Amino acid sequence: MELDCIIIGGGPAGLTAATYLRRLHRRVMVFDDGRSRARWIPESHNCPGFPLGVSGNELLHRLREQAATYGATVNPKRVSSIHRESGTWRIEADGETWDSPTVLLATGVVDRLPTLASGDPEEALRNGLLRSCALCDGYEATDQRIAVVGPLAKAAANARYMTTFSADITVVPIDEPAQDANAAFDTAGLVVLAALQSLSCKEGAWEVIDTQGRSHRFDLVYAAMGAPARGELARLAGAKVDEDGAVITNEHMETSQTGLFAVGDVVTDLNQIAVAFGHAAIAASAIHRTLPPAPR
Ligand SMILES: Cc1cc2nc3c(=O)[nH]c(=O)nc-3n(C[C@H](O)[C@H](O)[C@H](O)COP(=O)(O)OP(=O)(O)OC[C@H]3O[C@@H](n4cnc5c(N)ncnc54)[C@H](O)[C@@H]3O)c2cc1C
Repeated sequence: MELDCIIIGGGPAGLTAATYLRRLHRRVMVFDDGRSRARWIPESHNCPGFPLGVSGNELLHRLREQAATYGATVNPKRVSSIHRESGTWRIEADGETWDSPTVLLATGVVDRLPTLASGDPEEALRNGLLRSCALCDGYEATDQRIAVVGPLAKAAANARYMTTFSADITVVPIDEPAQDANAAFDTAGLVVLAALQSLSCKEGAWEVIDTQGRSHRFDLVYAAMGAPARGELARLAGAKVDEDGAVITNEHMETSQTGLFAVGDVVTDLNQIAVAFGHAAIAASAIHRTLPPAPR
């Protein structure tokens, strides 16, 4: 099958790009191994067009259905390699190779979650007790007792941001806070516990035990552990990535490699569905212009 574009990643970014490209009569194949972080969203309330909220799985289902309406195929395979051969991109997935003049990377990020002494972090994400993005759901956390868990610098920065939503914010460092007055982060005005000893989620509530043996209760935990970009394929393709592994693109979402585009969370730390949609529209238009015209 001859392709105009291979899309790697079937989350909100990749699926939206597939719909746009199919509606431009371009031949696309989406590869997706089913790890969209959107699957954990219990209910998003800032996704445009859903005034009463939408679960991540429902949104993914609708996006897949919309792409399928215009004939986009989602191939449930993991892409393991990419390289360019005689001006064409070649990818490998489960031992098969596929060629295309353009490739769109929409591979997302890897969420680092805290280890729980009791309970499962993925289940806690799915039921909204563990969260990872204040811009996504801080509003729904208004006036709750909130712990922000992570390396001190990250957790402190996140906790400061969270003060928009609640006056009851506690930083729970996973490392022992440095005694050093020259530490490069600012904890002034924040409640900072001794380092985390254990974190448990039982019957809808959180308990933190710190290294001084003290117990603390919270309604919600925000993870501030970082979420590195899944940028391996970009690196394999020779595209530039920044110090956090995020893929660097120009204003058309094209990477430093001609014909290789990137969209969504893998590009930006403004990890939002609306941003993924916008990136996808920009990239699909640019990919269409890059390809030879295909008049009917
Ligand atoms: C708990 C939680 C709640 C959130 N709530 C909100 C919210 O309310 N509002 C909001 O705007 N955002 C929210 N987000 C963020 C939102 O989920 C992301 O911004 C969005 O999913 C990014 O879309 P994406 O397509 O870039 O990446 P993803 O959705 O992560 O999709 C990437 C896809 O690429 C696939 N993939 C990766 N590598 C390969 C490979 N080599 N081969 C094949 N497939 C591959 C993965 O399997 C995955 O399906 C939330 C995130 C989390 C974790």
